[in-house]
Amino acid sequence: MKDEKLTPIDAGRCQAEIKEGSFMTLGPRAMQRCESVPSWVAVEIKDGKLYGAMALCDSCKQVCAKLMPHVQFWDLQEGQADAS
Ligand SMILES: [Zn+2]
Repeated sequence: MKDEKLTPIDAGRCQAEIKEGSFMTLGPRAMQRCESVPSWVAVEIKDGKLYGAMALCDSCKQVCAKLMPHVQFWDLQEGQADAS
């Protein structure tokens, strides 16, 4: 593993990628970037170090919280942890 810099957070647009099409769509579906304006930063911490972070809108935050319960959410404006 290379020691790469973290991808900068895009504060202007949600960085979640969602699958196009419905459940009934046949064939491969493209991943499409969410168009919403983010209000959260999802932060993943592993072994006490910042592992990754991405900007998320409200609805993608809900999905992310269910899929990845260990992820913390910081308020994008304040840069603070959600839980005080
Ligand atoms: Zn989103």
